[in-house]
Amino acid sequence: MDNCIFCKIIAGEIPSTKIYEDDDVLAFLDITQTTKGHTLVVPKKHYHNILAMTPGESAILFSKVPALANKIVQNLNATGMNILQNNEEIAGQSVFHTHIHLIPRYTEDDGFI
Ligand code: 5GP
Ligand code: ZN
Repeated sequence: MDNCIFCKIIAGEIPSTKIYEDDDVLAFLDITQTTKGHTLVVPKKHYHNILAMTPGESAILFSKVPALANKIVQNLNATGMNILQNNEEIAGQSVFHTHIHLIPRYTEDDGFI
């Protein structure tokens, strides 16, 4: 989709630090590293948010999360992880291409995200 920043990242038109990629999804570091390793998982196809996806489409996206979350936690030696997903401005969505936040948590972080 034109003027979608995440579609441009998927197309390689805007640089990103890629963490994982397959036919369905791309995972890359959030430009705002809320904590070290803060990652976004996005479907390669453009959807406005989860509310615009069928159960099957969102199931494919969410099915990628557990393995990726574990890999990030293990590789970064994190203590835990917040997994967040915002839909519409009222809920904090600022980029209107579906994405799931993976935010590693560390014993030394300040408890706020
Ligand atoms: P939302 O607020 O929509 O749930 O999350 C959007 C996220 O996208 C924010 O955490 C923001 O830092 C991230 N973001 C916005 N623009 C870019 C960008 O150009 N590159 C990357 N890697 N992340 C971005
Ligand atoms: Zn898009």
